[in-house]
Amino acid sequence: MNIKTIIFDMDGTIVDVPYDWKRIKQDLKTGGKSILPFISSLSEPARSEKWRILEMYEDAATAKAVLKKGIKEFLSYLREKNVRTALITNNSKKNVSLLLKKFGLDFDLVMSRESGLWKPSGEPFLYALDRLGFKTHECCVIGDSHFDILAALDAGIKRIFILSDNPTGFAETSVEWVCTIAELQQKIQPLLS
Ligand SMILES: [Mg+2]
Repeated sequence: MNIKTIIFDMDGTIVDVPYDWKRIKQDLKTGGKSILPFISSLSEPARSEKWRILEMYEDAATAKAVLKKGIKEFLSYLREKNVRTALITNNSKKNVSLLLKKFGLDFDLVMSRESGLWKPSGEPFLYALDRLGFKTHECCVIGDSHFDILAALDAGIKRIFILSDNPTGFAETSVEWVCTIAELQQKIQPLLS
């Protein structure tokens, strides 16, 4: 296995952010649907109103974001090893830019929801690989949620690492579990050559 590029999720992976998705979905009245497809399927003025509600929650959570311990060092390590990095999030360009600037982070490719390609579809990952010039077997995905797993599987990416304190939440999936960035780096190290 020779990993040449890594796709990162943002919220919950690069930064810790206090999202209560259950409450947000209730407030948006999504009826159990995924938030982004739900909002974009609405007509005006409901669509703008729901975007406003979502952005209010996102802005509040982003303001409280805390950088994950060790992530900056891990990104520097990957740069030294000549591994290309992509940050792919369903969050907005505004919030991504704000967090990258605030924490001084740099990725080779950054995709926000304005791309129109959203997880859990594998499309944003395939688009990124195409842009970076790598195949799925040269890539691994690092995330914190079921959406990251589904998107990776949909794209045909088999190496998936999930940062979580609660692996039982995804017991049915074949992913590698890590609690910390240090543990993640230990597992990634042998895959780079
Ligand atoms: Mg996440």
